[in-house]
Amino acid sequence: MNISLLVSDQIAEFFEVLSVPTRLGILLAIGEREVCVCHLKAVLHLRQAAISQHLQRLKQSQMVVARRQGRFVYYRLKDPQVLSLIFDVARMQGISPEQMDVFTRVPAEGCLCSLCNPQNEKNMC
Ligand SMILES: [Zn+2]
Repeated sequence: MNISLLVSDQIAEFFEVLSVPTRLGILLAIGEREVCVCHLKAVLHLRQAAISQHLQRLKQSQMVVARRQGRFVYYRLKDPQVLSLIFDVARMQGISPEQMDVFTRVPAEGCLCSLCNPQNEKNMC
């Protein structure tokens, strides 16, 4: 196979992972922080099983890294540069940063996680 095809395959694979709206939502909700699944549930209004499935794919493709602490697992972006890419595309589509707030806002409405409730020493999810 020629090199240019290998390179374009690799880039296409990256965009293929990003081509699922829920995955974009997860990446935006994680942002430059470390979050637990309950935060993603509150932001995306999805069941844990659905979120876990997409997190698995994002981990496989090295976009998200998981860290276990006690009974909680926290997720962060391996390379937060992917956020600039998503925000650039949003801007090209005429979407304002304020409209992206639905994913990035903290505290998220109804979320019990310690990120959204810094007064809680222990995670409540
Ligand atoms: Zn939260």
